[in-house]
Amino acid sequence: MLHSKVVGGSTAKRVMKCPASVALAAAAPPLPTSDYAREGTLLHEIMAQVYGAGKEPEDLLGVKLDGVEFTQELLDEKIRPAIELFDSIQGEMDILVERRVDFGDALPGVFGSCDILGRVDNRLFVVDWKFGSGVAVTAEDNPQLLFYAAAAIRSLPKFVEGVTEVELVIIQPPKITRWITTIDRVRFFERELQFAVQLSQREQPPMAAGDWCGWCPAKASCPAHTAVAERAMRTALDKVDVDQLSEWLTKADMLDDWLKALRAQAFQVAEHRQIPGWKLVPKRGTRRWVNEDVVVDTLSREMAYGELFETSLLSPAQMEKKLKKIGQVLPADLSVSLSSGTTLVPDSDPREPAMLIGSSLVKALGKL
Ligand code: SF4
Repeated sequence: MLHSKVVGGSTAKRVMKCPASVALAAAAPPLPTSDYAREGTLLHEIMAQVYGAGKEPEDLLGVKLDGVEFTQELLDEKIRPAIELFDSIQGEMDILVERRVDFGDALPGVFGSCDILGRVDNRLFVVDWKFGSGVAVTAEDNPQLLFYAAAAIRSLPKFVEGVTEVELVIIQPPKITRWITTIDRVRFFERELQFAVQLSQREQPPMAAGDWCGWCPAKASCPAHTAVAERAMRTALDKVDVDQLSEWLTKADMLDDWLKALRAQAFQVAEHRQIPGWKLVPKRGTRRWVNEDVVVDTLSREMAYGELFETSLLSPAQMEKKLKKIGQVLPADLSVSLSSGTTLVPDSDPREPAMLIGSSLVKALGKL
């Protein structure tokens, strides 16, 4: 089924609450599908066959969609209860099944597909099947169903002619929830939706996190969430008891020594006896030449002699050693010492604290 890239029924609430999500979701990879989602798609298809093509549900047993099979269990637990709940709505209803509805020029590119649109006298019914058994969804002021109602009023003028009230229905076996509202409420919803879509096209649309983030494809990289995580981390660090940390670090040194001794003893024992769950294995090997003269002799037939060797400048330490042997000193400004990071040591350590190392790093970089 095609989905609007701007906003559809199932994304209406998210876009209205967080207009920034339109661009972020469009740039994010699609959410991975789950077995539950695939089962839901199959059950929607079964309902479309029952109400749209007049098929008997039992005749559809064994139908497969995206690797999920329509079984007797799904028929008994989901489809039959959904049909009974739908039948419990009174009146002779004219229905449209899986009908695409849109907003025309009022909201270009905004459309959705409604499970059932029904008409009984002056009432428009907007019915949605929900087959997940996790969170119960209510019809009251439901943005997804208001979206379909508003789009139906826009795009199906004949079907809605004479309608004065709208009933939103969610059938989520074994429950049904129904909510009646006015045409004015639906029109007001449409204006809110239009405003949210306009906001989403601004340079910096508003962003807000909430329960609508659950199915947002941008959630993993969303700044609203990463900022919360960073703030939580900072708050957690501010709350740490530094005196306690000092004591634990001292104990950690003792623990390190004990661990070293433990590993050394275990190694010794393992050379003679099996330690349950552990074994001795050779360390990763490094290849060496068996005989360098033979290597040169063999390979110089294939390659130029010079290609067999590599030369590079000695390191400052090696050079210093060499110069020392001939009574020379390495000029200080020919080399710099760059730290690759910081390490935690006791106060008694003679090295400068990291902030001072920072200034010497700036000096060293100046030399480079
Ligand atoms: S995850 Fe939530 S806050 Fe972030 S873009 Fe999506 S809807 Fe907006």
